[in-house]
Amino acid sequence: MLVRGKVTGSEIPRFKHRWFGILEVEAEGEKYRLYMTGNVAQWFLSGDEVEIEIISRPKEKEGFKVLDFDDYRLWKFYEGDKIPVWPLFEKEVEAKRYSPLTGELLYTYKIRAREAKYESDFEAIAELEQYHYASQKEKVALWRCENGHIFEANTKQNCPICGAESHILEIKGSTPASRFLILELVEREEYEPRILSYVRVDPPIPLMHRRLPNGKVEKNIREKVFPEEWFHPAFWPERIMRELYEELKRKYGKKRIARSYLWEKAKWKALAETNTAGARIARVVVHPDYRSDGLGQLSVKSALDWIAERRIPEMRKRKHIVETIAQMARYNPFFEKVGFKFLWETASGRPVLFYPLTEEAREYIERFLKEDPYAPEDGRLWRPSYGRVEPLKGPIVFKNVSKVFESELDIKGLPEEIQELLKAFGVRHRVIQRPVLRNLNFEIKPGELIAVVGASGAGKTTLLRLILGSANGWWEERFRPTSGEIDVPENAKVSVMIPGEFEPSFGSESILEHVYRKIKDLNAAVEVLNRAGLSDAVLYRAKYSELSTGQKERAKIASLLAEKPNLLLIDEFSAHLDTLTAMRVAKKVAEIIREAGITALIITHRPEVLKALDPDKVLFVGYGTAKLEAHRKSKKAEPSQ
Ligand SMILES: [Zn+2]
Repeated sequence: MLVRGKVTGSEIPRFKHRWFGILEVEAEGEKYRLYMTGNVAQWFLSGDEVEIEIISRPKEKEGFKVLDFDDYRLWKFYEGDKIPVWPLFEKEVEAKRYSPLTGELLYTYKIRAREAKYESDFEAIAELEQYHYASQKEKVALWRCENGHIFEANTKQNCPICGAESHILEIKGSTPASRFLILELVEREEYEPRILSYVRVDPPIPLMHRRLPNGKVEKNIREKVFPEEWFHPAFWPERIMRELYEELKRKYGKKRIARSYLWEKAKWKALAETNTAGARIARVVVHPDYRSDGLGQLSVKSALDWIAERRIPEMRKRKHIVETIAQMARYNPFFEKVGFKFLWETASGRPVLFYPLTEEAREYIERFLKEDPYAPEDGRLWRPSYGRVEPLKGPIVFKNVSKVFESELDIKGLPEEIQELLKAFGVRHRVIQRPVLRNLNFEIKPGELIAVVGASGAGKTTLLRLILGSANGWWEERFRPTSGEIDVPENAKVSVMIPGEFEPSFGSESILEHVYRKIKDLNAAVEVLNRAGLSDAVLYRAKYSELSTGQKERAKIASLLAEKPNLLLIDEFSAHLDTLTAMRVAKKVAEIIREAGITALIITHRPEVLKALDPDKVLFVGYGTAKLEAHRKSKKAEPSQ
């Protein structure tokens, strides 16, 4: 049954305002109470025209017909347009996970993108939010216990004051105008999280100025590029609060005024006034275990559909444009991959990106990019910044190289009676010689990625030491061949990791500081950390000692890459990483090595790592010999010069 009517009021309980609210509608002589989320109910004004489709028979209560969450559908009319409101936006999407070694499809996640609706959704959002904050000390949500105590915490817990059960009150940093879209796993294993990511959508910010390259600030830049009414009136309770305050001061003199009362009033007035043709993506947070699977892009795409279809957040004017102000966009291009264009920096230097939802908006953006003297080329912000290294000037050549280990058997230090016995047998002093590498001849070309394999004790590490010694001109015994010659080009800049012998030392600085100090470019530092598999901002600020064994190994690889070597020697690559992480890191490290033109010898004993590295050649070391064989089949990632 369909009925048409008008909104007569709403009721939003203060302490569960996000996930519960009631909309009152008069339609065809009947009074309805529609149960919905407060996040939706709060945007309705008395007099708004609506249409209700009644699915289940309403319950009669105090003269009202009450419709619960699943009992109805609702549309609202705005200037002749019919906007779907309830049930909330929901869409099934798929995300694919590919094998890091073969590129084959491993499996497909079934995901539901939907607006947050239940208390448990907001609890899950708080849990995800803690991965977004740079500081682990900061608490991300406010909670309220049944006795009214309010406290801060990251996850649901009992009240620290009285021990009673608590309910989430607010996600810190969100505004009353914020709405939340979540990506939920449809089918999941026990160990998988229910919610993989969330996107927070707000109205556009009320004011935006841009900073020009000469440092000057150009005011209200959006209004010079797009129609003014696209961004106004925005949600701006602070301005309304100031006005109310001034008004009360004029009326009552300098008496004290309750700020919380004013804030509440300003909030409702601002919600009623907001009516823009834009939206702002204020947050995108993906569960750290799922960051490499394209879920960031998928979350943003789903949010764009939601904004366009439902006119999120305020459900009034048609939406033309979506803005986002994100420092992170400098380091991770996922907004650009979705189709956002970088137009300028705010007065405080943060990049602003826009996505056109309509053809009209696309034209405004294109015109700006073409005509504005300061517009960034093609609206691009992110660029790979690791760059290329100066390649080795020639090959590394082994000519008849042998390495013999000598050890002395000495009876000194043994108990006297045993010395006497050994002397009686004629054993006083003996030299033991053990050949490790015998008469090696091979050549490694500049830019080649070589995987070194062989049994333990076969001489792999010795081989790396000899190359290191030749590159650095070291004359200590263990860095020199016993006979033969190793040529390493004079421009070699070596970075080496041999556990227990040569390892980056971190001290007490944060991982990001460490890498930045070495590479001296912040973008490149973040790029190196991401490629090494440390893509979580919480890890950037962690100290080395706070990392897990596997994270430490990744940090060491990042540290080596940050030295920008043209010759990289790594012993026992990824020994402490689980299989999937090891393959992921191997693939990314191989990518950066190839793109940068680094010559690399990497020892591994793991077949899956060997496959993921996809080396140009494999050097088999064993029984004193070493054999170099071509390996690489795919040439797709070859750097283009
Ligand atoms: Zn309490």
